[in-house]
Amino acid sequence: MSDVFYNNSIIQIIAFASKRLESISATPVLDAEILMAHALGIDRHKLVLYHNTLVDKKTLTKFKRLLSRRLKSEPIAYIVGYKEFYSLPLKVNRHVLIPRPETELLVDCAIYHARQRATILDIGTGSGAIAIAIKYNRPDCSVWATDISKDALKVAKHNAGTILGKHLIKFLHSNLFESIPTMTFDVIVSNPPYINPNIYTQLQKDIHYEPKEALLAPDNGFGIIKSLIEKANNYLSDNGTIIIEIGEDLSSRIQIFAPLFNFSISILKDYSGLPRIAIFKKIKNITI
Ligand code: GLN
Repeated sequence: MSDVFYNNSIIQIIAFASKRLESISATPVLDAEILMAHALGIDRHKLVLYHNTLVDKKTLTKFKRLLSRRLKSEPIAYIVGYKEFYSLPLKVNRHVLIPRPETELLVDCAIYHARQRATILDIGTGSGAIAIAIKYNRPDCSVWATDISKDALKVAKHNAGTILGKHLIKFLHSNLFESIPTMTFDVIVSNPPYINPNIYTQLQKDIHYEPKEALLAPDNGFGIIKSLIEKANNYLSDNGTIIIEIGEDLSSRIQIFAPLFNFSISILKDYSGLPRIAIFKKIKNITI
C-alpha cells in the first residue's frame, strides 16, 4: 500500500481509507472510522476529539493491517472481534455467525411470548446472541442453549460469562435436540442455517468468511428448519411456542408444512419488509 497515509491527521487518513473502501463496502466511512478507533484503542465516538492529531507509526501500521483485511472483504465484526446485538457487546470470531439486526426481532418475540419463569431453549446458539439477549432481559426465565460446534459454544460461554455472569445459561453440545434430556420447554427459538447452497457462490464476499455450517441448509435451505419442526413437538410444552428465523424465500413452504405437524403459524416481516420470523403454536384439539 503506498504511503498516502504517512504524516497525515486522523481525519485525512479516514478520508483516504474510506475512498479505498468504496469498492467493497456499502458503509466505507463508518468502516474506516471503526478500524481507526480500533487501531487507536478508543471508542469510535471519541474519534472527533482527535481529528487533527497526527498518527504515530505503530498505530498507522496497525491501521494499515486492519484496512488491508477489510479490503479483502473480511467483515468488520471479525476484524475487531466484536459485534453489538440487542445493545449488548458480543465477542465474535470465524467460528460463529455475526449476529444480524433482523434477529433482534426474534428476541423481541421470545420475550413477548414467554410467560413468567418460562423455560426457553435456543437451538444453534452460535455466539450466544439470542440466548444471552433473552436472559439479560428476562432474568426470570431459565434459558438453555445448544450448538453442534464446540468452537461456537466456547464463544457463547465466553459471552454469557462476560455479559451475564457464569452459569446463568445452560449450554449443551448437541445436534439439534439430540443431547437434550427428556423435558419440555415453553419457548423454543432458533436462527438455524437456511440459505440455499445453490446460491452460495452468488452471495456477498463478506458472507464467505462466516461458517458455512451456520448458513447453508439442504433442500434449498429448508432442510434444517424442517427437522427442527418435526422434532420440536417432543420438547414443547402444551401451550408452547416455537420461534424461528427463516429465509424470505421459505415462507410459503413453511405455511404448508406447519399444519402437517399440528402447528398454527404466523410469519412476521423484518425491517426490510421481508418474511423473517415464523411463530408456531400447537393447534389444540377441542373435544366436546
Ligand atoms: N440472515 C443471514 C444472511 O442472510 C443468514 C442467517 C442464517 O442462515 N441463519 O446472511
